Amino acid sequence: MTTEEILSFDREHVWHPYTSTINPLPVYPVERAEGVTITLKDGRKLIDGMSSWWAAVHGYNHPVLNAAVREQIDKMSHIMFGGLTHEPVVELAAKLLPLLPPSMEKIFFADSGSVAVEVAMKMAIQYWQSKCRKGKNRKHAFATIRSGYHGDTWHAMSVCDPVTGMHGIFAGSLPVQFFIPQPSVRFHDEWDEKAMDPLKDLLAKHAGEIAALILEPIVQGAGGMYFYSPTFLVRARELCDQYDVLLIFDEIATGFGRTGRLFAWEWAGVEPDIMCIGKALTGGYLTLSATITSTAVADMICSGEAGCFMHGPTFMGNPLACAIASASVSLLLENGWQEKVHAIEAQLKAELAPAGSFPSVKEVRVLGAIGVIEMKEPVDMAILQERFVKEGIWVRPFGKLVYLMPPFVITNKELSKLTSGLLRVF
Ligand SMILES: *Cc1c(COP(=O)(O)O)cnc(C)c1O
Repeated sequence: MTTEEILSFDREHVWHPYTSTINPLPVYPVERAEGVTITLKDGRKLIDGMSSWWAAVHGYNHPVLNAAVREQIDKMSHIMFGGLTHEPVVELAAKLLPLLPPSMEKIFFADSGSVAVEVAMKMAIQYWQSKCRKGKNRKHAFATIRSGYHGDTWHAMSVCDPVTGMHGIFAGSLPVQFFIPQPSVRFHDEWDEKAMDPLKDLLAKHAGEIAALILEPIVQGAGGMYFYSPTFLVRARELCDQYDVLLIFDEIATGFGRTGRLFAWEWAGVEPDIMCIGKALTGGYLTLSATITSTAVADMICSGEAGCFMHGPTFMGNPLACAIASASVSLLLENGWQEKVHAIEAQLKAELAPAGSFPSVKEVRVLGAIGVIEMKEPVDMAILQERFVKEGIWVRPFGKLVYLMPPFVITNKELSKLTSGLLRVF
């Protein structure tokens, strides 16, 4: 196919994320990707600043992950999970559980991050249904913090930020949840106990209706790229215990080293009751996610009326995805991810800092391998995107946020190309 053929059919028939069919944003045809380089069909090469939305931590076309695909695909790429099991899923679970909070012992594999969140929310509801038998359960709602993002499916959407999320459009159909403001104390700032007032007030009034508090620990991703104090999580854990509310950590974006810890809960050292992982789980190769909970929560769910947890996707525990995830997790642990993330953090801090004094920029912030430039006004994505491509970099801004989260394998030189290209565009 020629580039023109691809683009014209794509434009007529293929939907892209959050895109109009009447007036679609431009798209760039990709021929291949290797390491941190994306090669467009016209031969232009772009340094990847996005890791394909947090996922491709080892870069593209990695020989070790490719080998894992080849080895597994000749055995079976998929087999139903009802009544059957296999080595790739068990091997992956055995690798993951020691990396997660110690109480997390029962793992449910699902297809995507949004589904993992739906599963977590269903677990919380079934938990309270089992615990408070005979119709006494009033815990049907969820609490969360503003500027969060938890996915695009129905209940996941209901706990996304009500303004930047889709609440307005789906109002009337969407379940109404309880929102508290974003934690007021930032990651690097001194703790102020007042930051807990909104959660305290909410739980004091409504804990009887709230099944769980769901949040992204430390880093709020797509909802605002905001970094908040670990002490908030410590206090939130205490309050959830005090008021009998489950705590769900959505680590779909923060997992696998991105924030400078393997998982973001480690910054605070408090454990959730339920946890979601996804995105970088397969190193960006295939869609796979997991929801993990404690034995106590799992057993309570299964001692209820249903006698089991009521969920089971067709592609649950997909062997191909599990084999790649296994290889990806090993690769991460063997390749000194922490030094790499720390080096990226230091370089992002140094090289993005000049943007802080640009008149159009509100703030520059960096944590782990995440660099954020918050603008004063929303950017024109299409125009900016074109300029970035001209600079030879792949960066996809949204709203007021222009940000980098490069693959961990990026070299100093490649990262400099990314940051200098970015700064030249403003
Ligand atoms: C991306 C994301 C999701 C949704 O994952 P999908 O795989 O896109 O469904 C959920 N929660 C967080 C924190 C995310 O960053």
